[in-house]
Amino acid sequence: MSRIVLNLRPAALLSVGFSHPRALGPDIPFASKPAKRDRRTAHIPYIPGSTVKGSLRSAASRIAKAYGFTSCGEGFSRSMKDCDVCSLFGKPGITYPKVFFSDFVPDGEVKFHSLTRVGIDDKSSTASEHTLFSVECVAHPTVFRGEVNFRELSGREFELLLLALAELRLDRFGRSSFVDLRIEEVSGLDIPETLKEVFEELCEWLWT
Ligand SMILES: [Zn+2]
Repeated sequence: MSRIVLNLRPAALLSVGFSHPRALGPDIPFASKPAKRDRRTAHIPYIPGSTVKGSLRSAASRIAKAYGFTSCGEGFSRSMKDCDVCSLFGKPGITYPKVFFSDFVPDGEVKFHSLTRVGIDDKSSTASEHTLFSVECVAHPTVFRGEVNFRELSGREFELLLLALAELRLDRFGRSSFVDLRIEEVSGLDIPETLKEVFEELCEWLWT
């Protein structure tokens, strides 16, 4: 098994889904779970591994063609074929995926921020006058730490993984959030000469 330890941190405010109306639905990339802290039970935010994997898969799909990889499109669909993105991230029904994502949990202090938003009417997509609600957000510089574990990636698959990580810092995470990421540590891996540059860039935060 090879392993990449990753740090993620909000580049802007990220919503945490403590309680939220349906309109926000899938664009909330954070969840929370109870944890013991100082002998009390508190809710700590975390990013589910599946969220990170899904965002990375979308990022890989977006950049695939530009870098000479094949992609059968973003998201899961029936028309999925064997493409480079599916080969790396797997397809529905595959029992042994090549990459495994842990949940990403706070590393150090968590900074919260409460944000008031205007409710959006699902049907008309217009702001409804009377629905204001507040969303709990995790703010910069909170850092989340997690791991990507994988087995026997080909050079080509590893290249796609690194390019997808680089792309993730430049585009949306979920529907309305941005994350910065940084590779903290790798083990069981030799970085090919051709990927040294992109790898070294990924070892530093992009956004300060
Ligand atoms: Zn595919």
